[in-house]
Amino acid sequence: MSDDCLFCKIARGEIPSKKIYEDEHVFAFHDINPQAPVHALVIPKRHIATLDDLTEADRELAGHLLERTTHVARELGLGQNGYRTMINTRSHGGQEVYHIHVHILGGRPIGRMVCT
Ligand code: AMP
Ligand code: ZN
Repeated sequence: MSDDCLFCKIARGEIPSKKIYEDEHVFAFHDINPQAPVHALVIPKRHIATLDDLTEADRELAGHLLERTTHVARELGLGQNGYRTMINTRSHGGQEVYHIHVHILGGRPIGRMVCT
């Protein structure tokens, strides 16, 4: 938990979000600036800044986060046609919010990945 982290505050319900799913360990909500018809974010409730900060002790949580990401995608109706998942890491990865999050993008073909 980090006092000044936006996504920690969202996970605690201190900042409103369009919640999709929540359990003891993860929280999923709609992105405020959607880049596709469906754009959701799945986060661990515990503050971990980036993918690169994961340690061996986080293996179970990381697995749960990914497995619940597939659950959320199916709940959003994306199971059949599929979707793009993305984790941006630090500045060269385009990360803006330093609390690890999995993007789920779908609802239309997302297209081939273009790195600009
Ligand atoms: P990233 O660039 O991978 O760090 O992604 C951060 C994402 O968080 C962006 O897609 C933002 O649109 C999204 N975001 C920022 N603030 C909020 C918020 N208050 N509620 C929902 N999504 C947000
Ligand atoms: Zn946080």
